[in-house]
Amino acid sequence: MKKVLVTGGAGFVGSHLCRRLLRDRCRIFCMDKGESRHRGNISKLIKDNYFTYINHDVTSPILSNIEFEQIYNLACPASPIHYQNTPVDIIRTSIYGAFHVLDLAKKCNATVLQASTSEVYGAPDMHPQTEDYWGRVNPIGERGCYEESKRCTEALFHSYFKQYGTDVRIVRIFNTYGPGMSPSDGRVVSSLILQALKGEDIHVYGDGSQTRSFQHVDDLVEGMVRMMNNTQKFIGPVNIGNPGEYTILELAEMILRLTKESKSKIVFKEVLKDDPQQRKPDISLAKEKLGWEPKIPLEEGLKKTIEYFQSVVYMQGKKSAHLVKKKI
Ligand code: UDP
Repeated sequence: MKKVLVTGGAGFVGSHLCRRLLRDRCRIFCMDKGESRHRGNISKLIKDNYFTYINHDVTSPILSNIEFEQIYNLACPASPIHYQNTPVDIIRTSIYGAFHVLDLAKKCNATVLQASTSEVYGAPDMHPQTEDYWGRVNPIGERGCYEESKRCTEALFHSYFKQYGTDVRIVRIFNTYGPGMSPSDGRVVSSLILQALKGEDIHVYGDGSQTRSFQHVDDLVEGMVRMMNNTQKFIGPVNIGNPGEYTILELAEMILRLTKESKSKIVFKEVLKDDPQQRKPDISLAKEKLGWEPKIPLEEGLKKTIEYFQSVVYMQGKKSAHLVKKKI
């Protein structure tokens, strides 16, 4: 049975990946920081005999004697709220985490996959973005902490490959959504769905003409697993995203339509600083090397995500009713 380590395994993408790898009959070691464990993403997985939770922060060296065959490095906060509030933590987790994960992979002779990001392209002046585009990044801009640290991790992974022959893989992940997203990290899909379900104003930043390409988390996980297991020694980087491009206003309107009874209306808010105007992956390389392309259309994926958030809102309602009762 393949021993696989997933750092950041209790997060949104990480927990989906762990579930998928368990289905593929891998022995999973999920590493995360204590607080993530309580998010509920892995509450069911913990009961599986082939799943072990390791409470560890990747900013410290990983002193393990387990002979991992594969390591997925997903440990890093990734939302604009984190860029604003804890930029130093982002850089520390990305860079120290990458060193520690790579040292472990080198020791075990494991294949190690880095979850990089479309943010390495910054505010791109090439559209759609291909992997050979070098990006347009402001190191001291609002997103600099995330963009530059992820760029540095790519350089690190590539350098371990060059200097030590470490078996690395790099995927550049574009905007991803789906059940299990955090309700509080301010991402556009989660925020807008929650606002629609609660009948609150839907906040679109700027005039909503900025675009993003949204992929369902199941498609992403399939792409990551294929990249990890490719036998051509294709190390990437490779874009993993859905090329279907939507303006944020179109997304807001779609969410309103899908949450039929919503009383919400769209309200335009001040544009965010350094908000990229366009983002869309060119996925020719993933198609050619991995035979991968996304399968889940946005509308279908949003329906499943709305169902998930309906249960979140229900639970939030129950909790606050309980608190009111306690006060009385
Ligand atoms: N956005 C918005 N309302 C929100 C959250 C985000 O209009 O409540 C916009 C944001 O300005 C950006 C886009 O949606 O243009 C995607 O934001 P997100 O934070 O989800 O991802 P990222 O900007 O990192 O791609």
